Amino acid sequence: MRIETLAAHAGLANDTATGAVVPPIHLSTTFERSADGSFPHGYSYTRSDNPNRAALEQCLCELEAGASWREAGLSAVTFASGMAAIMSVFQALNPGDHVVAPTDAYYGTSVLLRDTFTRWGLQVSFVDMADLTCVRAALLPNTRLVWVETPSNPLLKITDIAGVSRIAHEVGALCVCDNTWATPVLQRPIALGADMVMHSTTKYLNGHGDVLGGAIIGPTQLPIIERVRQLQRTGGAVPSPFDCWLVLRGLRTLPYRMRAHSDSAFAIARFLAGHPSVRATHYPGLESHPGHAIAARQMALFGGMLSFQVGGGAQQALGVAARLRVVTRATSLGSPESLIEHRASVEGPTTTTPQDLLRLSVGLEHVDDLLEDLDQALA
Ligand SMILES: *Cc1c(COP(=O)(O)O)cnc(C)c1O
Repeated sequence: MRIETLAAHAGLANDTATGAVVPPIHLSTTFERSADGSFPHGYSYTRSDNPNRAALEQCLCELEAGASWREAGLSAVTFASGMAAIMSVFQALNPGDHVVAPTDAYYGTSVLLRDTFTRWGLQVSFVDMADLTCVRAALLPNTRLVWVETPSNPLLKITDIAGVSRIAHEVGALCVCDNTWATPVLQRPIALGADMVMHSTTKYLNGHGDVLGGAIIGPTQLPIIERVRQLQRTGGAVPSPFDCWLVLRGLRTLPYRMRAHSDSAFAIARFLAGHPSVRATHYPGLESHPGHAIAARQMALFGGMLSFQVGGGAQQALGVAARLRVVTRATSLGSPESLIEHRASVEGPTTTTPQDLLRLSVGLEHVDDLLEDLDQALA
């Protein structure tokens, strides 16, 4: 089955009590034992497992593996936020292990590695992941994990997932890919050679800007998946049943939303690239983008995120954002409404992001309304 069909049906099991087609929300934290002490439906306590969470995890496996999900034998482990999911992966490593991460990783990932996990004894090297020579040069005898994020934030740099996976595997390290921006509709890292995938379901997967969540997906046989599952259950950073229900509802329309986000972003990138007030446009769909060839190979479409530089400094960029009427000034991405952000302000004084750069999450509005809005703001 194609991804549209999987998204429409995955995790739907008709409720045997009522025949409800859309699953009910199971708020109960506890489940009754049989007289013999067993749990007849497999659920005992909601921190350990819950029917809404199980349905969401099944759907995520199906989407990430595509039609072959049963053969692929994937497991998904969902969390209360993307950061909780990322945290579980690093908590599953041992003190003294070495991690290679991109210099332009999601800001929260970099902060977590630098400020929390180095104190816990993880050794971390930040490298330019778009350059495979740098990745290879960073490997040490104790390298256990290479973290990939592509397209990257906020310069939309492209990492060759197959290339980095191969290099990581040569030294017995795992390759984990933050697939939040591309989603399984546009990019399937596990099929390209990565060992695990991470998602902030807060973004496109839920897609409506109204729930926080995260997920780790990988082969059931992989020992680290079982450790991540244990951290989920004992650490307790679990999503609520209602959060799971909302993300699953969002996933139903993911393939159609990703197509619309990507088509509009491409049109806006072309418009900005030809605009006299724009100094640079970063979008992997543009042939001028340094990662275009790799993106064309590993992505079905180029996604709904782009960034652009207006020249001058922070004041010029903030001025453009201030003049926008349709686009909302807010952080985050993957919502129906377009969101724009001055990343350098968010990242603070240590940022390496250009001061004149704005990051745009292209929403589901009519593209002409967005083009007209950007045109008047840049005039
Ligand atoms: C938002 C985001 C995260 C963090 O997820 P939260 O749900 O906000 O905790 C991680 N990686 C990427 C690429 C993101 O965009």
